Amino acid sequence: MKKTTKNAKETEAFAAELLKKYPKAKWWLLYGDLGAGKTTFVKGFAKALGIEKMKVKSPTFTLIEDHGDIVHVDLYRLSAPDPSVEEQLEEHAAQKKIMLVEWPERMSKKPPKDTVVLHFTHHGKDERIIEVIPPESAS
Ligand code: ADP
Ligand code: MG
Repeated sequence: MKKTTKNAKETEAFAAELLKKYPKAKWWLLYGDLGAGKTTFVKGFAKALGIEKMKVKSPTFTLIEDHGDIVHVDLYRLSAPDPSVEEQLEEHAAQKKIMLVEWPERMSKKPPKDTVVLHFTHHGKDERIIEVIPPESAS
């Protein structure tokens, strides 16, 4: 499934829509270049869960930001897969938290089930194409 959004607000709204559609998905893998809208999507997701979205930003020093119901991960600064980071991710995931991961290509193992895969691409200045690969259990 592909969705085109015309501005950041639409991307946020789309996140809320997908959360409703796949409430049981634990892992959300967000692929795409810098500025493609991944963090914006996470903000919309957080807002839908009543988490103050201003707190969701691109992490500068931390790779993992725990917001309670969701864990926001950005592996951009990771040059190679790091076992200690992956161990921390597993610990968070074991607590039934929703894991949203930017730059998931920098993890060595992919979570196999309950995973929604999203590919963000630029399409002009303010348009973004978001391709959604649903979790296996839902397809
Ligand atoms: P990433 O996390 O993928 O690097 P961000 O979400 O941090 O990207 O940044 C996306 C930028 O693009 C924001 O400044 C946002 O306001 C802007 N933008 C413009 N149009 C869109 C759109 N359709 N969807 C998401 N963001 C958009
Ligand atoms: Mg980001």
